[in-house]
Amino acid sequence: AEVATTPEPIIFRSKLPDIAITNTLPLHRYCFERLDSVSSRPCLIDGPTAAVLTYAEVDALSRRLAAALRRVLRVRRGAVVMNLLRNSAEFVLSFFAASRAGAAVTTANPASTPHEVAAQLAASRATVVFTESLAAHKLPPHAHDGSPLTVILIDDRRDGCLHFWDDLLSSAGDEDEDIEEDPEFDPDDVVALPYSSGTTGLPKGVMLTHRSLSTSVAQQVDGDNPNIALTEHDVILCALPLFHIYSLNTIMMCALRAGAAIVLMRRFDLADMAELVEKHRITVAPLVPPIVVAVAKSGAGDGEDVVAKRDLSSVRMVLSGAAPMGKDIEDAFMAKLPDAVLGQGYGMTEAGPVLSMSLAFAKEPFKVKSGACGTVVRNGELKVVDPGTGKSLGRNQNGEICIRGQQIMKGYLNDPEATRNTIDADRWLHTGDIGFVDDDDEIFIVDRLKEIIKYRGFQVAPAELEALLITHPSIADAAVVGEQIEPEIGEIPVAFVARSQGSDISEDDIKQFVSKEVIYYKKIRKVFFVDTIPKAPSGKILRKELRKQLQQQQQD
Ligand code: ATP
Ligand code: MG
Repeated sequence: AEVATTPEPIIFRSKLPDIAITNTLPLHRYCFERLDSVSSRPCLIDGPTAAVLTYAEVDALSRRLAAALRRVLRVRRGAVVMNLLRNSAEFVLSFFAASRAGAAVTTANPASTPHEVAAQLAASRATVVFTESLAAHKLPPHAHDGSPLTVILIDDRRDGCLHFWDDLLSSAGDEDEDIEEDPEFDPDDVVALPYSSGTTGLPKGVMLTHRSLSTSVAQQVDGDNPNIALTEHDVILCALPLFHIYSLNTIMMCALRAGAAIVLMRRFDLADMAELVEKHRITVAPLVPPIVVAVAKSGAGDGEDVVAKRDLSSVRMVLSGAAPMGKDIEDAFMAKLPDAVLGQGYGMTEAGPVLSMSLAFAKEPFKVKSGACGTVVRNGELKVVDPGTGKSLGRNQNGEICIRGQQIMKGYLNDPEATRNTIDADRWLHTGDIGFVDDDDEIFIVDRLKEIIKYRGFQVAPAELEALLITHPSIADAAVVGEQIEPEIGEIPVAFVARSQGSDISEDDIKQFVSKEVIYYKKIRKVFFVDTIPKAPSGKILRKELRKQLQQQQQD
């Protein structure tokens, strides 16, 4: 019999040369490698209180905290700590203290339900939790092994809990700052256990190692011509939740590696954000599409323009990622911040997370196209495959994006089968995203494979229709899903629309607006008006919620 040979794949690479990457250090050492030259510079700036910690202070406090974790709480290599926190200095300190103690941190959304928190605690086998009063009551009394759960509160004293500053940090002395590293340390130890956003199903626990995260950070900010040119003079906005990998890696770790200052917001608020940009002369703003849309639309309709009344001229770089963003919104945003460079990154928790990054952010920048999601990161390999046959595709052909490199995850938590289905024998991670690479090595994401609507054999990408809908001044936000009808037709595109303040745009107006812009099979066939579009904290549209609403409509 003939032996099937897999033809050599067509591999896309960065336009930046590969670099020598240090990825065998413990993550905390890698992130603070330039400590000596930045020690007196601001590291963490708390948005609400304006309190500042310098690099030297963050380093010393995280060492003391690590010593307390080891001595008082017996946290060792292989242990798991949970961060159930909004953005705060304590989040950053506990993350690096755990890394120093040899433990891994599983990050959780403090807005989760008690049920979700309990499931993540059990799956990750965390025994120690850093949290704050607004979330502490969601914790179960016991850890997975039946022992009492150790709860450390950052903002309050409470019976049965330890206080972050008064109990843990005060128990450590100056001598604790010389904490030794575990001699057994292995760069392939897990250091972070973030969860995916739960856009398509239940959130999945993802094992990221010291090696994968330091590789990913290096791919973004290291080298003579870094892909994102961050320096110690930058002030970077942290409005996105640190429990999500985008903020944890591209904001926290990359900024620390570069010696930049980080301005922490508890939660995103447009007016607060604009005020903080002006006050701290923020230079770099990593955002998600809903925030970009909010800035672009600020002052539209009857609303006050909270952006226009602030001086945002210090911003030189705006990064968008985590969800699709169309060209028109990019253009509308740029009209408000004409002096900044706007670009996209494309990431996925499992990929460490960054697959591609705009080369407009490089120290020696490249010209990029609006709507592109960047070029594959350096030291990484990307291919596009036909989702049906697995055949590797060339430029300008749509297919499933796959990535390979030392930055990708070790695997899913407790799920070797899901890991095998995602990372193949040749170590390619399959993203489930459909896109293509153009003639200039720029990547365009069309949509997720699972979200593509199939209408009479034609393919309709919801992301394209959503991008079009939100350009309408009377539409504040929109989402598109497929509604299953007769088998011979398949699904029809249905829109959920949140009207702008004061607008009374009708279903017919919307259908006509879309049909003028798209080929006939992409027309919107139904419109439902809603107050808000359900979104994950990382800015993604929760289409599964909308599908539920559709099903209910059909039953009624
Ligand atoms: P789950 O896997 O739990 O269903 P999720 O895939 O949304 O949720 P994340 O890992 O946070 O969880 O998100 C990764 C996904 O986000 C990518 O697979 C891609 O679909 C989308 N994404 C990220 N960046 C971009 C971008 N710039 N443009 C379009 N889509 C993006
Ligand atoms: Mg996913």
